[in-house]
Amino acid sequence: MQAAPETILDIAKIRQDFPILHQQVNGRPLVYFDNAATNQKPLPVIDALTRYYEGYNANIHRGIHHLAEQATAAFEASRRAVQQFLNAKHWEEIIFTYGTTDGINLVAQTYGRKFLNAGDEIVISGMEHHSNIVPWQMLCEERGCVLRVIPVDDNGELMLDEYEKLLSERTKLVSVVHVSNSLGTINPVETIIEKAHAVGAVVLIDGAQASSHLDLDVQALDADFYVFSAHKLYGPTGMGVLYGKRALLDAMPPYRGGGEMIKEVTFEKTTYNDPPYKFEAGTPNIADVVAVKTALEYMDGLGKENIAAHEADLLHYATEQLQELDGLRIIGQAKHKIGVVSWVMDGIHHQDTGVILDQQGIAVRTGHHCTQPLMQRFGIAGTTRASFAVYNTKDEVDRLIAGLRRVQKMML
Ligand SMILES: *Cc1c(COP(=O)(O)O)cnc(C)c1O
Repeated sequence: MQAAPETILDIAKIRQDFPILHQQVNGRPLVYFDNAATNQKPLPVIDALTRYYEGYNANIHRGIHHLAEQATAAFEASRRAVQQFLNAKHWEEIIFTYGTTDGINLVAQTYGRKFLNAGDEIVISGMEHHSNIVPWQMLCEERGCVLRVIPVDDNGELMLDEYEKLLSERTKLVSVVHVSNSLGTINPVETIIEKAHAVGAVVLIDGAQASSHLDLDVQALDADFYVFSAHKLYGPTGMGVLYGKRALLDAMPPYRGGGEMIKEVTFEKTTYNDPPYKFEAGTPNIADVVAVKTALEYMDGLGKENIAAHEADLLHYATEQLQELDGLRIIGQAKHKIGVVSWVMDGIHHQDTGVILDQQGIAVRTGHHCTQPLMQRFGIAGTTRASFAVYNTKDEVDRLIAGLRRVQKMML
């Protein structure tokens, strides 16, 4: 791992944008290191939500009155902002969902059910979040497909030569995480996609962690589907995005049936709307969709490369400090990582670590991080995980290290 250059961001000033950070937890200033689960929201995003409800809340697309037009315009402006964020070719390729999980289920239940048959193979990886495992298992059970898994090596990297051996003309779909939420590993998704395409498989990339840390370009990647959640990139909960290549979306049957996704309904026959609306039945999360544009603008204003540099700096510092602790082992030492660090400590259960850190106002995540098979791969039940966002500081890392020394003193 390389040391990152000193950041040019004014972190103290950035912290002023996040009201939630300025509170005491158990008598100590909050240290929030659970950003891989969800990160905190800056004032402009909170304001965008309030402005929507105070100023122009109305149902979209159907109304001809002033507020409905305003809400529709803001909703569709968010779609263009996401298109730009992903560098998608067409705005019609951006579908609003309830999150990463929802996006993966959509693809499994529409594309998967229509195009996958008995004996077809789906390749995922050994470091997937449960939301990129279970929907495919459900599909395999229904359609008689076979799930194959790319193994993970001791550093927490995917074994690409094993991946190549898994690929064949039976491979119809590859679904892989861009960045591991448990280990921080950045996977070489460009290579993974290229090799899948060489055998004619389509590829879905789970970008839940990548979206707030890496520059994304779905055209350069040549991803067929790309999914993420807004709440992990300084946006609201309950809102996410599915990108899909237009030709694929055109060929896919709809997901949920209802209002908005139709052209014409009679009791004899219904004709479906075109993408993206075909996949957006019912009243969507209008306020949250609108606020996502603000979240993207907020990240843009700081500069994604500046955010990444700051987080790399914190990761480097935290990794060094953690390694000084006796009996602590970092799980996941990939060459390319985002600001996520996971560890286990000799003789101490991660849950005890989490409780004692919380008593000191430090929020970390403990457990399997929705990646039980990955934990099994490392022969552990879970880890303690610290994950960084733009507002975190080295002082907070120092608090964590002091907190862990206290854990060791109390438990050993
Ligand atoms: C958080 C996460 C998910 C699930 O996202 P939801 O917002 O809970 O739907 C999937 N994959 C990864 C890698 C994640 O970090």
